[in-house]
Amino acid sequence: QFEQSTLLNTLPKQFFAALTKKAAQYVNAGHDVINLGQGNPDQPTPQHIVDSLKDASDRTDFHRYPPFQGQPFLKEAAAQFYKREYNVDLDPETEIAILFGGKAGLVELPMCLLNEGDYMLVPDPGYPDYWSGAALAGARMDYMPLTAENRFLPDYEAIDAERLDRAKLMLLNYPNNPTGAQADAAFFDGTVELAKKHNICVVHDFAYGGVGFDGQKPPSFLQAEGAKETGVEVYTLSKTYNMAGWRVGFAAGNKSVISAINLLQDHMYVSLFSAIQQAAADALTGPQDCVRELSAMYERRRNIFIDACRKIGWNVTAPAGSFFAWLPVPKPYTSAQFADILLEQAHVVAAPGIGFGAYGEGYVRVGLLTDEKRLAEAVERIGKLGLFID
Ligand code: PLP
Repeated sequence: QFEQSTLLNTLPKQFFAALTKKAAQYVNAGHDVINLGQGNPDQPTPQHIVDSLKDASDRTDFHRYPPFQGQPFLKEAAAQFYKREYNVDLDPETEIAILFGGKAGLVELPMCLLNEGDYMLVPDPGYPDYWSGAALAGARMDYMPLTAENRFLPDYEAIDAERLDRAKLMLLNYPNNPTGAQADAAFFDGTVELAKKHNICVVHDFAYGGVGFDGQKPPSFLQAEGAKETGVEVYTLSKTYNMAGWRVGFAAGNKSVISAINLLQDHMYVSLFSAIQQAAADALTGPQDCVRELSAMYERRRNIFIDACRKIGWNVTAPAGSFFAWLPVPKPYTSAQFADILLEQAHVVAAPGIGFGAYGEGYVRVGLLTDEKRLAEAVERIGKLGLFID
């Protein structure tokens, strides 16, 4: 009976809620629905990480409050991880902040850095939680279109100096959700240059840093010279180590940004359960075969899916990383109409592109989050619809 605050009412509406509900109705009616609409990894966490949590949860000192700002051993492990994987030096104490998953950090950062009415550059299409962060900060979003013509990278030339000067924050995400695009080192170099010139803080969401294909390891933003002066990278263990349910990640980079996140978190959470921090540290510093195997598994799924699409006459661009394929929608349908057709006639769930922003219109996002056989079957069912893309 109590009213929500005006602040909560500014949060964007969950665009996919209606489709999820409709999909559940089809499942309840006994249809064999292949759900490729969500981004929830389908594999379990590697056993050595689960075992680490089991052992760590017996430690009674871990049953007490964790230290404010997280366990030093996890920050140390994150620094070692960046050195080993990307040859980036980070000071664990001042350049790393532990997060409750990437999502918390991405929503907190605008609150930490922006005042009401400030501008934030966000990719369109993009991960909808960027909008939530802006809403809670009272910030205004300025969209950077990601188009196929520009390989789903923002075209900095198309943003005029006035818009760049007024922007305080810029969000980027590669490998990209939802388009599956990858950025290269030169793009990040250009980003640092631009950010320095216009005094913009860059937040690079590296959620799919562990999922790159065709032998191309996704580069870290922090590898670009001067990146630490211009922003932070948000890393999550959710995807790289299949730990989505554990809610653990970290932000790395610029000291002033890290100290702002720590300040906010001191007032909200203290920190995560120490046993989870221990298991996360062991994931980052332990055997890495699981990461390579996982990436290879997504690559196999991608290949099966894209080959099957081509066989039904859909000439789809193969994603270079992440675990999403970005399929153009056949004419004359909108992405929401096509998602409805897929559900109603093929019993396949895909996320309509419009849910990721105006430039997402004309596409649906398919998550490669089921086994190869089911993915091939999904495409076969789509083929039977007799619809074609240009
Ligand atoms: N960023 C992107 C682009 C994502 O797709 C996700 C999860 O789906 C996240 C961040 C957040 O991941 P988590 O909160 O599990 O770390």
